[in-house]
Amino acid sequence: MAGIYIHIPFCKQACYYCDFHFSTSSKYQDEMIAAIILELKLQKALFATATIETIYFGGGTPSVLDTKAITAILDTIYKNYALADALEITLEANPDDLTPTKLKQLAQTPINRLSIGVQSFSDTVLRYMNRSHSSEQALTSIKQAQAIGFENMTIDLIYGVPQVTNTAWEQELEQFFELQIPHLSAYALTVESKTALASLIQKGTYKPLDESQALAHFELLLAASQKQHFMHYEISNFAKEGYLSKHNTAYWQGKQYLGVGPSAHSFIGNTRAWNSANNIKYIKSITQGIVPQEQELLTQKDKYNEYVMTQMRTIWGVDSHYIQTHFGSKYFAYFSKQIAKHITQHNVMQNANNFTLSPQGKFKADGISSDLFWV
Ligand code: SF4
Repeated sequence: MAGIYIHIPFCKQACYYCDFHFSTSSKYQDEMIAAIILELKLQKALFATATIETIYFGGGTPSVLDTKAITAILDTIYKNYALADALEITLEANPDDLTPTKLKQLAQTPINRLSIGVQSFSDTVLRYMNRSHSSEQALTSIKQAQAIGFENMTIDLIYGVPQVTNTAWEQELEQFFELQIPHLSAYALTVESKTALASLIQKGTYKPLDESQALAHFELLLAASQKQHFMHYEISNFAKEGYLSKHNTAYWQGKQYLGVGPSAHSFIGNTRAWNSANNIKYIKSITQGIVPQEQELLTQKDKYNEYVMTQMRTIWGVDSHYIQTHFGSKYFAYFSKQIAKHITQHNVMQNANNFTLSPQGKFKADGISSDLFWV
């Protein structure tokens, strides 16, 4: 079982908080698509014995591509990789790209899951973030996508934005639940270095973020999602039964994935690899038949740390028997010692070999994970 991630590094405009790899110039878009197609062919031997269960178009903004380019990429995957019957194919899309015509075209492709970057239903917040769309466009695109038959859909929302009161955030959540979308990814706004948001805060143009406000929003999110019978299956992800993201779940469960495109990461065997995050360099190198990539061989310590970090954030939790059998007694003893105080403090619940975050532990997920790390 394996997944393919395709990174489309183009966006219409730069959101102030974003530190992903993208360019706002579409100058080399055709060359980039040709290079991605070539990389898929160059890398196919890596997955010679694997069955692909998920394909994920992320970015950047994959919806800036025309459906011809998306279909050409998918055709290359179909011709060069073994595919499962129940294939999940997700496309990240921004509301302003999802015109009725585009949606009709996308519905003709094998894409069966849309991830719409809504981020907020408030125009004030969208302007604060420098998003390229309005709340009206977000609502219209969601309703039109549903009407055209995209039932498996998720949206992203961002909380912890300074001017958003608890009541305003609750209204955003109500809006989401009213739309009958079966999956939500909700992230706390963070200030990444070298972003416009960091510089606006530094200059005093924007207020600094307030962690207690983000925690209050997270608490409201947990209460609302529970009331609506959404499964909180990963710290930032909520879904109705049957609508968990297969692609992201596979990441969290340590399954193999191939990342294609500039800046894309792969995890295959014991190796983690990452492509150059420079569009021109990527295109030039791929055209010469070389994947511009750095790699690292994961040590036992890396694998243990990755396991506890990702698993602790999920509903499935950490399995101490897995630690014993995959990493040995030394890691098992270390984990048992480190987890003990979190159980005493009621941040972690234990059920035989299984350890999951308690409701109060969900507010401290990152701290608990880092406390379990082998350093
Ligand atoms: S659309 Fe997405 S990838 Fe592009 S700048 Fe905004 S957040 Fe970043």
